[in-house]
Amino acid sequence: MAIDWSQPIDTGAVPVDGEKFDVIVVGGGPGGSAAAAYAAMDGNKVLLIEKDVWPRDKVCGDAVGGKSLRHVKELGVKEMIEQTPHFRVTGMLFSSSNGQNVTISLPKEDVERREAGYALPRIQFDYMMFKRATDLVISNGGKVVQGTKVIEVNHDSGPQQKITGVVIEGDSVTSHAAPLVIGAGGWRCPVAQKIVNELHGEDMRDDQHMCGAYREYWTGVKNVGDEEGAIELHFVDDVIPGYWWIFPVQKGVVNVGIGMVISEQRKQKGVKKSLRKLQQHLIQEHPLFKERFADATMVKGSGKGWQLPFGSPRKGQKLQPRRTAMAGAMCIGDAASLVDPFSGEGVGNALLSAKLAVSLFDSSKHASGFPEDLAQEYMVKLWEALGPELSNSFKIQKIVKRKRLMNMFVRKAAKRPALQDALTDALASKEAQKKLHSPLWLIRNIIL
Ligand SMILES: Cc1cc2nc3c(=O)[nH]c(=O)nc-3n(C[C@H](O)[C@H](O)[C@H](O)COP(=O)(O)OP(=O)(O)OC[C@H]3O[C@@H](n4cnc5c(N)ncnc54)[C@H](O)[C@@H]3O)c2cc1C
Repeated sequence: MAIDWSQPIDTGAVPVDGEKFDVIVVGGGPGGSAAAAYAAMDGNKVLLIEKDVWPRDKVCGDAVGGKSLRHVKELGVKEMIEQTPHFRVTGMLFSSSNGQNVTISLPKEDVERREAGYALPRIQFDYMMFKRATDLVISNGGKVVQGTKVIEVNHDSGPQQKITGVVIEGDSVTSHAAPLVIGAGGWRCPVAQKIVNELHGEDMRDDQHMCGAYREYWTGVKNVGDEEGAIELHFVDDVIPGYWWIFPVQKGVVNVGIGMVISEQRKQKGVKKSLRKLQQHLIQEHPLFKERFADATMVKGSGKGWQLPFGSPRKGQKLQPRRTAMAGAMCIGDAASLVDPFSGEGVGNALLSAKLAVSLFDSSKHASGFPEDLAQEYMVKLWEALGPELSNSFKIQKIVKRKRLMNMFVRKAAKRPALQDALTDALASKEAQKKLHSPLWLIRNIIL
């Protein structure tokens, strides 16, 4: 039976003050839900804490790519998604500043095996992730709370500093300890703030690697697929150095949004100073889009902004993209600044980091606290797994901002099936992605 994501989720009994757990997870977004689910599947007693109450909206482009789907399948959520309305992504349309565009198809086998990607509102996706995590956590002896906020992260300041637990505030204020606390509270996660700012005196935020973004839902937009098709990323003149997306998410409904790196946005003038106004300008006045939106209506109340912490490499820093762990705690997803700096995708990396973090924890060996050497190992392994693609996406982010290069690239890709094939391969295989890391490949394909 299809899940009704408009209904409340029953999360059961709340923990009593002082109750102890093996793993505490702060934040019930996709990263936190996945971490709680993986930890419960390993037999741990988990406390999953979410400040909002389901069903809840999350500002996003709503695309769930192939990387996410592998984890979603492992966690038993893919079937739940497929029983509810969703858009099946079969390709990506890119446009450049002169208005030319090219559609790169996703690998046919992946589309046929339903592994290429979906787009569906986060209110729906996150509901299913949280619901599945709740069932797994409770059936393994843990607790789940919603409408409950982490107000303090506790630490032991002995010779070896370590995170030891949290204080939460729901109907009452209670305190809980665990050998491992997983920070999954998004870009303002209290666990990340504690580790990075408070205990190591480092900056958590870097506006050259932080993206501001604004999203609305619209109905009645012309030339979009109903149940499957391409999602659109536009790098048209008025938008650069930002990007504009149109992602169908359900029959007749599209997610329309715009993003720009914050340090770039500060330099803008006129309409580009406000992402909301810039989007309004594109919809009402841009020659390529105004006709498509002529009979469209914005879904009331859907205009919201949020920020994306990019995982691009930072100059001169040893820990990349920044510190994310210490004894007693690991951060995942946006709390670890892992959003792809070109595509803006963050869900896949949130799920991947959730699985990696949980895989390093062993409740029988780490009963007195998750050790510092494994926290260091987590940071190394995370960057080994994601560093190459995040660094590469950072290079591409820089290329698409250069109008002439992007024009050349789209013009070439539109004319050359071989280049389209290479890009399709790159979307599918890690081996093919390595080609994109080569400056020679980029020069040969973009400029020559
Ligand atoms: C406009 C926009 C468009 C995007 N488009 C895409 C896209 O199309 N595809 C994609 O893959 N990614 C996209 N992203 C990125 C994606 O949304 C994030 O990377 C993803 O949500 C990260 O998941 P997370 O679980 O780490 O954090 P979040 O989804 O932010 O979840 C964090 C959770 O922690 C809770 N929380 C926070 N503080 C506390 C506290 N003190 N106590 C308890 N709970 C707390 C929050 O309520 C929230 O539920 C987009 C982001 C934005 C802003």
